[in-house]
Amino acid sequence: MTFFTHLRCSSCKKTFPAHSTVCPDCGKALLAEYDLHEAKKSFSKKLLKDREKSLWRYGEVLPLDDAGAIVSFGEGWTPMLKLPHLGQALGFRNILLKDEGLNPTGSFKARGISVAVSMAKKSGVSDVALPSAGNAGGAVAAYAARAGMKAHVFVPASTPVININEIAAAGAELTLVEGSISDAARRMNEERQGKGWFDMSTMKEPYRVEGKKTMGYEIAEQLGWSLPDVILYPTGGGTGLIGMWKAFAEMEELGWISQKRPKMVSVQASGCAPIVKAFQQRKKESEAWPNPTTAAAGLRVPKAFADALILDALYESKGSAVAVTEEEWLADLKTAARLEGILLCPEGAAAIAALRKLKGFIRPDDTVVVFNTGSGYKYSEVLGQLTF
Ligand SMILES: *Cc1c(COP(=O)(O)O)cnc(C)c1O
Ligand SMILES: [Zn+2]
Repeated sequence: MTFFTHLRCSSCKKTFPAHSTVCPDCGKALLAEYDLHEAKKSFSKKLLKDREKSLWRYGEVLPLDDAGAIVSFGEGWTPMLKLPHLGQALGFRNILLKDEGLNPTGSFKARGISVAVSMAKKSGVSDVALPSAGNAGGAVAAYAARAGMKAHVFVPASTPVININEIAAAGAELTLVEGSISDAARRMNEERQGKGWFDMSTMKEPYRVEGKKTMGYEIAEQLGWSLPDVILYPTGGGTGLIGMWKAFAEMEELGWISQKRPKMVSVQASGCAPIVKAFQQRKKESEAWPNPTTAAAGLRVPKAFADALILDALYESKGSAVAVTEEEWLADLKTAARLEGILLCPEGAAAIAALRKLKGFIRPDDTVVVFNTGSGYKYSEVLGQLTF
């Protein structure tokens, strides 16, 4: 049973009903709210013990009011792996990897898309559209197929081959666009005119972030209801970072955790680092990054729609933002495979590489959660570049 009540604009704070998308007044992102005061009376940590090992274990704080309408492949409840050897090599004693590569469709996009597709299906949507750097497209194609919906996916022509093939295999309509995800979004908005396709772009649709916030609940539960000192998050649209920050506030209101928060760190690629630049200049919003270039496709987002919310979380948590070069993350993709036997995705490798730049900011004994956001097995082009 859900305690979901309504949506609220993250900027002007007006409230809207469940079927809304972006704020009709100011155009900013809407976020889901729950009656946590009421939830607190019955939704206890103890209840979770017997629940299924997927993100749907947190159903009370997810928006769906009908368990029968869930479209799922068993997403979430991914492992938290200790990285003792890598930690030792880098001078840190408590590095944990939240391995999102084990999600269905090979990335953490499955979390958000499972919730968003479930909500869309319930409200009678037949066609969904989205621009993607690859993994969101793959996830939407798969979940839409399972839900009996048609997906229309727009990706940069430079998207990894496996993403293009998985999208096509699931029967989605695929359009390749020259340029970045921003160009793909522009094209989608032209094609979508008058067709009634539902726009599932992240943060313009309010429920993908709800799916991704479950990473925050899982980290707390897996650490025995405490939070780490630092979280490193490879940031494109920032959905997971915004979601986790929201989850921490919800859990505090439920009485599940204390006020202590981790320092949130955004990791980006030097060839596309709008959040890092804005953070360094203490800006409230980012500027579109011209000519974004990085083989870490999930990080090739020139301007995140909800950049203000990402930056808020970084500032409020006394966190940071770090960019790493292609050479740096490629080198650490190899280091992680050698020292720990884990094949990271490029974005996850970037987060590991960022650790090296955060000595001093992160103390040797801090508990640090680093996100591997996708499966390394989706990136044979990148692996082909490495000499072993
Ligand atoms: C989408 C994606 C990211 C970025 O995630 P956001 O929540 O949009 O910032 C990072 N890594 C991978 C593998 C992705 O697919
Ligand atoms: Zn508003």
